[in-house]
Amino acid sequence: MIDAGKKAGSEEEEFKMEVKLLSQDKAKVKVVVKGSTAAELNAYRRTIVNKVLAMAIDTVEIVQNSSALYDEMLAHRLGLVVLKTDAESYFARAECKCKGVGCARCTLDLTLDVQGPGIVYAEQIKSKDPAVVPVYGKTPIAKLLEGQHIKLTAQAILAPGKEHIKFSPGLMYYQGFPQIKIGAGVKNADAIAEICPTGVFESKDKKLKVKNTEACVLCMACVDASKGEVEVKGSDTDFIVTIEPWGQLSPIQMVEGLVDALHKDLDALGEEIKKIK
Ligand SMILES: [Zn+2]
Repeated sequence: MIDAGKKAGSEEEEFKMEVKLLSQDKAKVKVVVKGSTAAELNAYRRTIVNKVLAMAIDTVEIVQNSSALYDEMLAHRLGLVVLKTDAESYFARAECKCKGVGCARCTLDLTLDVQGPGIVYAEQIKSKDPAVVPVYGKTPIAKLLEGQHIKLTAQAILAPGKEHIKFSPGLMYYQGFPQIKIGAGVKNADAIAEICPTGVFESKDKKLKVKNTEACVLCMACVDASKGEVEVKGSDTDFIVTIEPWGQLSPIQMVEGLVDALHKDLDALGEEIKKIK
């Protein structure tokens, strides 16, 4: 249970946001958030996509490229390589002591030197920092024929998704928590249980029952199939929230980054309001 403090505009009324883990695997984390609003969650979603910092290759100096790819295409593909991000040890360039010039605190050097023939994979990129390496080693970068050669140096930096989407650490999305009502006049229980693509219902002795509310994606297939006897609505206050990282950060690190970014934004807002006074 997270006590989220007092709601704006109400001195007395305290609101509590409740967060419960629904499922967790390598690819994503799903939680139920109770006592929120779509506006609030959308602010979190936008902040995760645009403002949470992650590392990516930003500049490339090509020493040799005799592959079939233009230098620009090669640089673009390198920029999209997902790098494990160590946000604790690096600073965004704008906040670094070097004032954006580039130093070891804000810039990581990487090299790539591969002779053909063969596919060049992300795992062949050599990083100076063992904590920041390609997450998906088998990401193909280029194909080299006999005698072809790619040699380059690259610099990775820590930046937010609003500068380029390659820095974005992943997605957050949400839906209203499903509220399902089964009317007394349901005649085709078997067919409705069958038509639901996520297996929300079960049919026992021709009676329709909800067996897994959280699986509902609000597709309304059951509403159509039951001619309105089944009612489905997404809640306005309770939500199923999914956090899906690309790999630079873990879901927890994404949420920590979200909190940091929100603090910064609120501090900046506070400063602006002071100026008006
Ligand atoms: Zn620096």
